[in-house]
Amino acid sequence: IPPARKLNIALVGLGRYANILADGLLVAQHCRLAGIVTGTPEKAKDWKKRFNLDDKNIYNYQNFDQIASNKDIDLVYVVTPNALHKEYVLRAAKAGKHVIVEKPIGISVEEARDMITACEKAGVQLAMGYRLHYEPYNMEMKRMGQERIFGKVKLVEASLGYKAISNPGEWRLHKALSGGGPLMNLGVYCVQAGRYITGEEPISVTAQYGPVTYPDIFKEVEESITWQLQFPSGAICTSSSSYNCGIDRLYAAADEGFFELSPAISYGPFQGRTSNGPLKFPETNQQAVQMDEIAKVILAGKRLPDHISGLEGLLDMKVLMAIYQAADSGKKIAI
Ligand code: NDP
Repeated sequence: IPPARKLNIALVGLGRYANILADGLLVAQHCRLAGIVTGTPEKAKDWKKRFNLDDKNIYNYQNFDQIASNKDIDLVYVVTPNALHKEYVLRAAKAGKHVIVEKPIGISVEEARDMITACEKAGVQLAMGYRLHYEPYNMEMKRMGQERIFGKVKLVEASLGYKAISNPGEWRLHKALSGGGPLMNLGVYCVQAGRYITGEEPISVTAQYGPVTYPDIFKEVEESITWQLQFPSGAICTSSSSYNCGIDRLYAAADEGFFELSPAISYGPFQGRTSNGPLKFPETNQQAVQMDEIAKVILAGKRLPDHISGLEGLLDMKVLMAIYQAADSGKKIAI
C-alpha cells in the first residue's frame, strides 16, 4: 500500500549536488521536492519552472527562517559548502524542520556536536546525506566484513581521488569554506568504509600529506593525503584521498579470502568481486533510495537508525580531525 503522503523536502544551496538530488527526487516514491532555499534569484526562477514549485515554498538566505510557519515543508536538506552546514542546520532545527545534512557534517567536531544538540533540543531528526548506506554493493561489503563471511578482516584499503579541481574560485580550495582538502570531501567516504567494513571505531591513526605539485591551486588545503587507521581487533585501514589523480576503490583482505569494489564510491555503476567470484547487484538511483529510506522512517514517526544520524557524522569528523592532527604532527594520534 502506498503511503498516505510523500515527505516534502526543501533543498538549501542549489549547486552541483543539489541538482543531482533534485533528479533523484523526481523518481523517489516517498518524498518530493517541495521547496528551495537559494541566494541566487535566477536559480529560484529556473527551479520554480523546472520543478513546478509554489512561490510560497521558495526562500532566500535572509527570509529562510519564515519556513517555520510553512506546513508544506517537512524536511530541509542542507547542500551548501561544508562550513555553512551548521548555520542552516541550526536555522532549520529552530524552524522545527527535520534535517538532512550533506557530508562532511561540518568542519569540526564541535560543530557536529552543536548540530546534534540543536536538533535534539528542537525535537527534529538530523540525518546524514550518506548515499552509500543504501547502496547494494557497499552494503554487501559491510555485511561481508561485519558478518565475517571470509573470516576476520585484517586489512582494508579504501581510497578516493579525482583530478578535476582547477578553478581557483572553487570553495573546496578555500579552507574557511571547506575545512580542508580532499580528506574532508572524499576521505570521509574512506573513513566510513573502514568503519562499516570492520564494524569498529578506529583507535589510532598515522598520516602523511602528499607533495604539492600544483602550488598555484593548493594554497590553503592539501592536494593529497594518505593515512592508516588502526582498529581494536588489530585490523588496519589504509587510505589515500587526492585531488591530483583518479582512484575509487575498496579492498578488504580477510583470513579466508578477499572482497573488493572498483569503482566503489562514486555514483556508479560499481564493479565488485570476491575470492569466490564476481558480485552483481542492480544499479540504483543512490540519491532517490537514500532520501526514500530516510523519508519512510520519518513518515512512520520512527527514530532514524544511528548509522544514518548526526552521530555517524560526528564519529567520522572525530577521525578526520585526528588524521589532520597526525599529518600535521607526524605522530601517531589516539582517537
Ligand atoms: P556547489 O559549489 O556546486 O554548490 C554549493 C551551493 O551552495 C552554491 O551553488 C550556492 O547555491 C550555495 N552557497 C551558499 N553560500 C555559498 C558560498 N559562500 N559559496 C559557494 N556556494 C554557496 O557545491 P556542491 O553542490 O558540489 O557541494 C555542496 C555540498 O554537498 C558539500 O557539502 C559537499 O561535500 C556535498 N556533496 C555531496 C556529494 C555526495 O555524493 N553526497 C557530492 C557532491 C557534493 P545558491 O546559488 O542556490 O545559493
